[in-house]
Amino acid sequence: MPELPEVEVRRRAIERSFKTSILVSLDIYKKGIVKHGDASVQKRIIGETLRFVDRRGKYLVFVFPDALELTIHFGLFGEMAIAGAQEQYPSACARFVFDNNRALFLLKWAGIWFGRGVESLEKLGPDPVAEPAEFTLEYLGSSLSKKKTRIKQFLMDQAIIAGIGAVYADEILFKSGLLPTRTANDLSKYETSKLYHTTIKTLKTAIEKTDADGDGSRSFLSLEGRETCPVCGTEIVNTRLAGRRTLFCPSCQH
Ligand SMILES: [Zn+2]
Repeated sequence: MPELPEVEVRRRAIERSFKTSILVSLDIYKKGIVKHGDASVQKRIIGETLRFVDRRGKYLVFVFPDALELTIHFGLFGEMAIAGAQEQYPSACARFVFDNNRALFLLKWAGIWFGRGVESLEKLGPDPVAEPAEFTLEYLGSSLSKKKTRIKQFLMDQAIIAGIGAVYADEILFKSGLLPTRTANDLSKYETSKLYHTTIKTLKTAIEKTDADGDGSRSFLSLEGRETCPVCGTEIVNTRLAGRRTLFCPSCQH
């Protein structure tokens, strides 16, 4: 599943190719992907200039003049490609053609919302890498103190922190030395501070290491695709927690 770093890298790639370009046409190949249908926005953005693309957690918001917006989410499997407008992709569910004769293709799956007031966007917690910072140590501490859930579930709760999924929750907890089964309101002040700084650093580093045009490899992650812990050599535990695959080192994490 694309998480905050992958979605941020996609955002940057879209801006590099299409910022200040005019949207010439928009083709929806799979009708089911349109989740919020202000059909007037779908028509009105044609011929308009893409001003910029904003990111909120795992959502991308395309902003056009006159407050015209559309929001996309890649779900579990969604991918994208930027290519010549004539390119063909069997798995394309939508195509945005711009006046530089290049197009953004949404592949496999995506959710598209036309217009403002996307409900799931309004429920999102702060984005950990947003500038200016909206995710603060004080916010994390007070959110932790109110929750008795396991820390991995806490990190993946989009209403608390936007953008983290199962893979980056594991990476953040490994680097923080915390077991994923720890209870959120049981963390010490030191652990809370470590978790806070590690969350931001892990996501920022991942953004820099993720290649927009590559194969989506996350080989820079500590536990992903490994049998043993890169720090101590202990066998990595591969289990399920809250229905999601969970990796951790039983020696380094407490
Ligand atoms: Zn270890």
